[in-house]
Amino acid sequence: MERCELLETCGFFRKYEKDWSSACKGMISTYCVGPKMNECKRKDYRKQHGAPPPVDMMPTGQILRAAESD
Ligand code: SF4
Repeated sequence: MERCELLETCGFFRKYEKDWSSACKGMISTYCVGPKMNECKRKDYRKQHGAPPPVDMMPTGQILRAAESD
């Protein structure tokens, strides 16, 4: 299976790979090991900032706030 080249070091993937909630599962199968890996906003962020994005930033660019209820 094709995988994102940053999979081993990506904070989002490492934190959420075992979280098989439907949201995370969908993100990982769509981006990290799926057809949109080159459209991941985390990669854009790395390019722009020269540093990895916050762990909870999803491949879509939104911040995942699991602890909040809004
Ligand atoms: S979140 Fe983005 S950078 Fe991280 S493994 Fe998935 S596709 Fe790669």
